[in-house]
Amino acid sequence: MTAGKTAADAEAEEELLRRLKSFEGRPAATAARAKDPVNEPMIRHWCEAMGDTNPAYTGPGATAPPTMLQAWTMGGLSGHTSRATAHDELFALLDAAGCTSVVATDCEQEYLRPLRPGDTVTFDAVIESVSPRKTTKLGSGHFVTTRMDVHANGELAGTHRFRILKYAPVAKRPPKPEAAGPRRPRPVVNRDNQGFWDGVREHKLLIQRCTACATLRFPWLPGCNACSSPDWDTVEASGAGTVFSYVVMHHPPFPAFDPPYAVALVELAEGVRVIGNITGVPYDKVRIGLPVRLEFLRVDDALELPVFRAEAG
Ligand code: ZN
Repeated sequence: MTAGKTAADAEAEEELLRRLKSFEGRPAATAARAKDPVNEPMIRHWCEAMGDTNPAYTGPGATAPPTMLQAWTMGGLSGHTSRATAHDELFALLDAAGCTSVVATDCEQEYLRPLRPGDTVTFDAVIESVSPRKTTKLGSGHFVTTRMDVHANGELAGTHRFRILKYAPVAKRPPKPEAAGPRRPRPVVNRDNQGFWDGVREHKLLIQRCTACATLRFPWLPGCNACSSPDWDTVEASGAGTVFSYVVMHHPPFPAFDPPYAVALVELAEGVRVIGNITGVPYDKVRIGLPVRLEFLRVDDALELPVFRAEAG
């Protein structure tokens, strides 16, 4: 028991945990039916979004990418049912206990048989476990693990285990004044990427090019993924690119970073993709397809980084 916690607090916590534990084993969905059978258009959209060109997912005899397992069970905006589920009840209980925020923490999948176009998908979901109260950097709360068994034409095809943390957020503290302020982390420079950072010092973004098959690669690697050749030279990026994808960082806050901020995967005109910060627009104006141009940001006296400035228009 921590200082300041009364016997009544401890009792209330125990009572909450007892109620939370009563959800373990309760079904969250039973014999629910996927909105669509396994189908080629959804497979194609998934492969395009993931950049997955594996030939197993197209043509006659195609199978669905195994990692799509959960995609078939999703209810979309309209959901699967208007009935209150065990999940809704559990979340309401956690909300009432002050655990009003939620973050997905991890997911595990197990594949037992491939899904093929035409397969009818049904699924059962069960609340597998609710953890005792845990304290994390985000705040303290309970991990909820849900297991979903996915069936194709009545046969178990795979299992999807999904874990979330439902927590009471910690109040944001004002940043501690520090003499010089926290410094942004240094890049790890090694013999495989030394040339890249040498280029940055000269305000050049250098892309490796395999001298055997001419395939460009980024980030820097000791060998070619296309032909395995260890021989390479470099080409200098023109600096033109577009935002291919992006995230907005809110949590966890790192020293020297001021969230929220956007981190983008930029597709360069040369075809390779680079991760970097977007400058020149607010974080919520970053969009997929946004044209950007390379520039170099002096972060402090010892660090310059390539970043991407949103192009006007
Ligand atoms: Zn090559």
